[in-house]
Amino acid sequence: MGDLEVHKHVQYIISVEKKKESFEALVMEHLRMNGAYWGLTTLDLLQNITAVDQEEVISWVMSCWDQDSGGFTGTVGHDPHVHYTLSAVQILALFDRLDILDKDKVSSYIARLQNEDGSFSGDIWGEIDTRFSYCAICCLSILHCLDKINVEKAVNYIVSCKNLDGGFGCTAGGESHAGQIFCCVGALSIAGALHHVDRDLLGWWLCERQCKDGGLNGRPEKLADVCYSWWVLSSLVMIDRVHWIDKTKLAMYILSCQDRENGGISDRPDNAVDVFHTYFGVAGLSLMEYPGLKSIDPAFALPVDVVNRIFFKKP
Ligand SMILES: [Zn+2]
Repeated sequence: MGDLEVHKHVQYIISVEKKKESFEALVMEHLRMNGAYWGLTTLDLLQNITAVDQEEVISWVMSCWDQDSGGFTGTVGHDPHVHYTLSAVQILALFDRLDILDKDKVSSYIARLQNEDGSFSGDIWGEIDTRFSYCAICCLSILHCLDKINVEKAVNYIVSCKNLDGGFGCTAGGESHAGQIFCCVGALSIAGALHHVDRDLLGWWLCERQCKDGGLNGRPEKLADVCYSWWVLSSLVMIDRVHWIDKTKLAMYILSCQDRENGGISDRPDNAVDVFHTYFGVAGLSLMEYPGLKSIDPAFALPVDVVNRIFFKKP
């Protein structure tokens, strides 16, 4: 089976950052802030964040800040969105540079996205999704600004998206999906409202996501995919049911999705690698305490030492 190719994955992440002119980079351009967060968090979990030029990264992140709205864009010149804003704040947290933010402006941008029913829109265009509730709550918590929104209403909206199977959908009545469950459980966890989750019922739905090959899928009848190693596993950790799945088989599945020659991790064995699945594979292994990796916080999706620095650092 073999081990995690730490060095090759570090090289892979760095090479993607340098390949900005390629077709792939062009297609993914609007996602660059998210991609930077996935890549940099992976490097930190692999204990190699110093492989990038910190000042260069931070000045690029700040060049994506939209002064008028207070939100961050995916890349220079695009529109701000709550997801890019969370990624930007997470990147600054990784480097311990939250001090350069205008916290008041950033948190006001997010607070303005909250709707009357407690839900959140992703941007001024108004699409509503529990993913945006997570982005808003996680980001405001990192900034110590949760008091800028109505947390009780935000929690109530998420609870209104809970299904009979214990899972959560993107809006009320939406089908349960592992990615959405992570967002809802993560937001409830950060808001101190996990008592709204039916742990046994949800834990059962989540552990049924493990397929014969050891990997996890996102919904019944779907193939396993490495990214669910994060969405499903982090949710199981938060509700204290992670012992309900076979961790050894899952770790072997993730390791079998590595490109052992050029680095990177793919969604399933022998497919093309990308930064998204490399991050979720490494993050999943980190949740299972794979040797040599930093441990990751299941709710904030940041290394535990970074989260501790945010909440316990002396002023
Ligand atoms: Zn995937």
